[in-house]
Amino acid sequence: MQSYELSPRVPGFDALESGNFLHKVLQRFWNSVQTQQNLRSKSLADRRRLLTECIDAAFAAHQSLVTDWDTAYLALQKQRLHNLLDHWLELELERSPFTVSATEQDAHIEVGPLTLRVRMDRIDKIDLPDGNEGFVFIDYKTSYASNPKNWESLRPDDPQLPLYALTTAPDELQALTFAKIRAGQQAEWLGYQSTPGLLPIKTVPDLPQRVDTWRDTLTQLAHAFYSGDTSVSPKDFAQNCKNCAQRLVCRLNIETLNTSLDEDDGAADE
Ligand code: SF4
Repeated sequence: MQSYELSPRVPGFDALESGNFLHKVLQRFWNSVQTQQNLRSKSLADRRRLLTECIDAAFAAHQSLVTDWDTAYLALQKQRLHNLLDHWLELELERSPFTVSATEQDAHIEVGPLTLRVRMDRIDKIDLPDGNEGFVFIDYKTSYASNPKNWESLRPDDPQLPLYALTTAPDELQALTFAKIRAGQQAEWLGYQSTPGLLPIKTVPDLPQRVDTWRDTLTQLAHAFYSGDTSVSPKDFAQNCKNCAQRLVCRLNIETLNTSLDEDDGAADE
């Protein structure tokens, strides 16, 4: 038997739907533009026109909404997304040159005994000084929370980029980065690159060694899952359990959980 959290409906788009629209728009946009050079060669008016077309296409399935409220809400959402991405494209122009090699690409990745089905947001190709090609894996994020430092543990948070890194040869992988597409100053690249200057992110010359560590970590986790390890041991009660809707049916000692959460809340208030 499985237990699921209730999914209450809210007026308008929820965070998941909003995120999906952003992905669709960027997929259309980069499938059309393809390279930073092409982006740079467009006038601001042409760039904005294309962005508008991509947004309209992504929202096309919702054009049949009929009330005035629907119309006004949809126009507001489109304008919000346009503002967000218009600013984000400026950050794309500040990077070193790239070609978008794939968007929303489905792939299967083998980790230990598991074959994981993933959808990679974006893979960029860059020309290396030695004449070879390198790759940059990009994961779009619209929230604050994701941070590459959370990859450095035996139970990494947001492990999708380290997982994608396993698909490349050591000399091919040049960077892994979250694209934090947020308003104004909150928009940023956040990740690791092997050599400086590709992106405004941290340079870690030992990136291939880190990938080896992630391979070991993820393989261990895959083996544990495959062998039926169903122990309930959240990595961080305060973070993982705070908003859980399943606590009534959880096998954890709820008293212990409540104590942990209360202590955390107290500390946060200080
Ligand atoms: S309370 Fe924590 S451990 Fe229990 S189901 Fe929820 S998230 Fe998992």
